[in-house]
Amino acid sequence: MVDAHRTFVIVGGGLAGAKAAETLRAEGFTGRVILIGDERDHPYERPPLSKGYLTGGEERGSVFAQEPAWYAGAQVELHLGQAVTAVDRDARCVLLGDGTSLRYDKLLLATGAEPRRLDIPGTDLAGVHHLRRLAHADRLRQVLAALGRDNGHLVIAGAGWIGLEVAAAARGYGAEVTVVEAEATPLHQVIGPELGQLFADLHRDHGVRFHFGARLTEITGQDGMVLSARTDDGEEHPAHDVLAAIGAAPRTALAEAAGLALADRSEGGGIAVDASLRTSDPDIFAAGDVAAFPLTGWGGQRADRRVRVEHWANALNGGPAAARAMLGQDVTYDRVPYFFSDQYDLGLEYSGWAPPGSYDQVVVRGDAGKKEFVAFWLKDRRVLAGMNVNVWDVTEHIQRLIRSGEPQDLDALADPNVPLASLGG
Ligand SMILES: Cc1cc2nc3c(=O)[nH]c(=O)nc-3n(C[C@H](O)[C@H](O)[C@H](O)COP(=O)(O)OP(=O)(O)OC[C@H]3O[C@@H](n4cnc5c(N)ncnc54)[C@H](O)[C@@H]3O)c2cc1C
Repeated sequence: MVDAHRTFVIVGGGLAGAKAAETLRAEGFTGRVILIGDERDHPYERPPLSKGYLTGGEERGSVFAQEPAWYAGAQVELHLGQAVTAVDRDARCVLLGDGTSLRYDKLLLATGAEPRRLDIPGTDLAGVHHLRRLAHADRLRQVLAALGRDNGHLVIAGAGWIGLEVAAAARGYGAEVTVVEAEATPLHQVIGPELGQLFADLHRDHGVRFHFGARLTEITGQDGMVLSARTDDGEEHPAHDVLAAIGAAPRTALAEAAGLALADRSEGGGIAVDASLRTSDPDIFAAGDVAAFPLTGWGGQRADRRVRVEHWANALNGGPAAARAMLGQDVTYDRVPYFFSDQYDLGLEYSGWAPPGSYDQVVVRGDAGKKEFVAFWLKDRRVLAGMNVNVWDVTEHIQRLIRSGEPQDLDALADPNVPLASLGG
């Protein structure tokens, strides 16, 4: 029986929001739990949208965070297909697009992120796509199948994770693929140039063309159809469809309009939260892609800055952590960021945080040529991040090394015959 005296409202029907609702009930919260999402689908996980669901290997039903029937069973009030348009902090209520106002005692903002748009001529053509939502993946599946059937060309702007995963899926359908990337190597902002080359080689081996050091300047078309994609160095790539995969921006509009503190752009933007995921308003919390939380100082990282990570695991764990903090529990969110990706027959996990400029050395353990190795990013011999490629069950050890902040013996770190478990930390 729900006790209507206390109401917790969650804005955002993604993984962070769904997991927060689940945790509130699991922790015994008996008040009203209201989950509001502007998508019509029940909360789902996005990683399959550029992998198994896009290639056709995974069913639609497998992507949902919970069985749709779970919400009614757990007495979680779902408002799907409804956007929250404002947060009134004085009245402690949220306003919905249809004019309804809902009062809250505690509020969680789990509004996620949205794809960045190309700001060039031609983006209104029907063959220009983004990939964030199930509906986008449904459409892209059909597009890739048609391109494969007709020997069509897909141009992908951006060699980040999503761009590369879609490139792999598109090659699987038999489409011609060109990836245009402003940096000199793929995944530059995450793994830097040293390991980026490996991903360029992987995709080239599967028939993907790259155009590095260039940006799209125009998408040409006729009768609404895409014909080509032009770059700032004067090249023109044939294209039937274009995917803009140039990153995502945190959905901070509600928080900003409500006067909540935002993180600096150098910290990835987003809603600034403390280690318990509390915003500058003590009754409002934020989690998932939209939240910028303090680095805890592990691995010799600076503890005085925030970081915003767009990772599945951060939504999976951050939603529950915020829920516990909303319940008044003592919460310190100090997870090492964790990410995974699958491209062709390469699977990887990445732990930590080491963008270019933050590390001074990369150490590889194993055989990068055979695509079976662990790479470490270090600063002053301390591990900031580690990525295991086609090597499994090592995440725990990598994260332990990151957390320890201990200087490492580099020869031992690079030697696959020295067990990771035996290394200092
Ligand atoms: C194609 C794709 C592949 C990915 N693959 C991986 C991967 O392999 N590994 C990995 O670690 N991560 C991956 N990610 C990232 C991961 O999916 C995200 O980190 C995760 O979805 C974040 O969850 P979230 O709940 O914070 O935000 P979201 O999933 O973005 O959910 C937020 C929800 O809130 C809604 N919303 C926003 N504003 C409002 C409002 N005002 N009112 C109502 N509703 C609102 C949004 O529409 C959305 O439904 C991938 C992401 C994408 C898009």
